[in-house]
Amino acid sequence: MKKALFVLLAALLLPASLLHAQGKTDIYILGRDKGSVSSLQAGGVTLVDARATTKKLGGSVELYAAAKQIKVAFPGMYAILSAPLAEAVINAQTIKLPAEIIASGSKIFVPVQFFMLPQVEKALDRQITFENGALVVEKNFTLAFTDKEQNAAYDRLRFFQKSGVSFTSEQTNKHTVEAVFPNTVLKRNVSMRLKDDFIRSFTLTQRGKDVLLKVILGKKGQTWRLAQEGSDLVFAAAEKTLPGAAPAVSSDEADTDEAEELDLTPSVSGTDEDLRPLPVIKAEPQPVMTSGAPVIKEKRKIRIMIDPGHGGKDPGATRRGSSQEKTLNLTVSKHLYNYLKKQGFDVKMTRTNDTFVTLAGRSKMANDFQADLFVSVHTNAAKRAAANGFEVYFRSDKATDKEAAEVAAFENEALQYEEAHYSFVDMLLESMAKNEFMNESSKLAGHIRNYVYKEPGIGIAVRQNNAIRQANFYVLRGVKAPAVLVEMGYISSAKDRARLNNKAAQKRMGDGIGKGIVSYLKAEGKIK
Ligand SMILES: [Zn+2]
Repeated sequence: MKKALFVLLAALLLPASLLHAQGKTDIYILGRDKGSVSSLQAGGVTLVDARATTKKLGGSVELYAAAKQIKVAFPGMYAILSAPLAEAVINAQTIKLPAEIIASGSKIFVPVQFFMLPQVEKALDRQITFENGALVVEKNFTLAFTDKEQNAAYDRLRFFQKSGVSFTSEQTNKHTVEAVFPNTVLKRNVSMRLKDDFIRSFTLTQRGKDVLLKVILGKKGQTWRLAQEGSDLVFAAAEKTLPGAAPAVSSDEADTDEAEELDLTPSVSGTDEDLRPLPVIKAEPQPVMTSGAPVIKEKRKIRIMIDPGHGGKDPGATRRGSSQEKTLNLTVSKHLYNYLKKQGFDVKMTRTNDTFVTLAGRSKMANDFQADLFVSVHTNAAKRAAANGFEVYFRSDKATDKEAAEVAAFENEALQYEEAHYSFVDMLLESMAKNEFMNESSKLAGHIRNYVYKEPGIGIAVRQNNAIRQANFYVLRGVKAPAVLVEMGYISSAKDRARLNNKAAQKRMGDGIGKGIVSYLKAEGKIK
C-alpha cells in the first residue's frame, strides 16, 4: 500500500524534461572540443541548456529559475528568454524562435537556433552553425560547402555564401572546372569523391586570400553551371540539360576523349588519390526570424495610466531632510503627465493630489480606462545606505533576486491600508494572463531604462546590467496591459536623495521616462 502510493507520487512528480528525449550537445569553438551541454529534443528541434551554453560561448547569464526566465548577455547585446514562449527578446526586440523555450528543474532550454541568430554571431564576431548534433563556433567565413545532391539526371554541389561572394570560373581541361573566389574566407577545406557520372570529385581549398574550387567531371558531366540559386551558390553538372534557367556551359568535347575520365573504379589510384571522402554536412534549416509582434494600428489615441505611488495616509519611504516618497512620486508623475500630453497621448493619473488610493483601486482605474500602458512611479529605500541608482521593475510570479524581493516586500507594506482584496480565483485568473504582458513589460522597461540613462542632468546612476528587475509587485498584478514600476532612486542614499529633491532633476526624470515610453511605442509599431 505504502509502496504503491510512493510509486504513484513518483509518477506525479516526474519532471517535465522526461517528456522530452534528453541528451548532450557538443560545443566546438575554433576547432577545439569545449565539452557538452545538456539538451532536449522537442518537435524536431534541439534545445540546449541556455545557461551552460552561454557560459561556454563566453557570455554572462542571470537565471531566474522561479520565473522560468534567463537573461543572456554577450558584448553589445542582451536577450531575455522566457519559457514557454517561442521567442527571444533581444535588445528589446522580439525575435521568433522555431520552438518554445522549456523550463526544466533549474534549467532553461532554448532552441539551439537562438545561438545561431545574426545578433549573437555579430556580438561574438563568429559564425555559429549546428552540424551533426554539435554547436560549431568558427571564424567569420564567407564561403562553405553545405550539401550535395545526386540523382539520375544531374549532380549538384551547394555552397553557403555570405553577402554574394564574387567568382570567376572556367573549364581548364576536358574534365576539370576551376572557380576562383577572390578575398573569400573558407569555412574549411573540403575534399570529396562523389564517384558519380556527372561529378567524380571536387576540392574546395583556401589559397591565401582566395578560395579555389576544383571540380572533376564524370563521363556524363558534359554540361555544367556555377550560379547563384536563392541565397546559395550551386555547382550543377548534367549530361545535356540542367535544371534551372541560368545559361549552362557545355563541354561538348568531353565525349571525344574518354581515356582519362573513364577511371571510375574507386580502388584505382588516379590523379584524385588525395581526395578523402568527408562526412556529408547537412545544411541545418535556417531559424525563423520574423521580427516582432504584429503591428497594431491604433484607431484611438494610445492611453497611458500614470500611477504615482502611495499617497494620503500612506507616505511611502521617508527620510529626514527630504520630501516624502508620496510627494516625490507625485511631482515626477506630473512632469511625466505633461510630457506625454504634449506628445498627444490620452493620459490619466491614479491620483493627482495627496490622497490614498488602494492598490486594487489603481489596477481597476487602469483597466476601466482600458490603458495601453501602466507606469507606476516610486522611490526606493534600503537599509544599506550605499544602495543607490535608478531601476525599472516588471512583474513576474516570483521576485528574481533577494534585493528585488526586499523591494517588493517594502512596497507591499501599503497592503496594510488595503480595504479590498483579490479573491483566490481573481489571483489565479490574473496570473494566467501574466505571460502575455511580461515580455511587453520587459521591453517597455528596457526603453525607459535607456532614455532615463540618456537624459542629461538627472544625476542618478542607471546601471545597464541591473537597472531592469522583476518582482511580484501587487500593484502591477491586476493591470491588463504592459506595466512597469519605476524606482527613481534611493531616498536612503544621500546622493540620490539630493537629486530626487532637485526641481530640475525631477523634470528631467519625468521627461526621460516619457521619452522611453514613446521609444517603446515606436519600436512596437504602435505609433509612427
Ligand atoms: Zn513606493
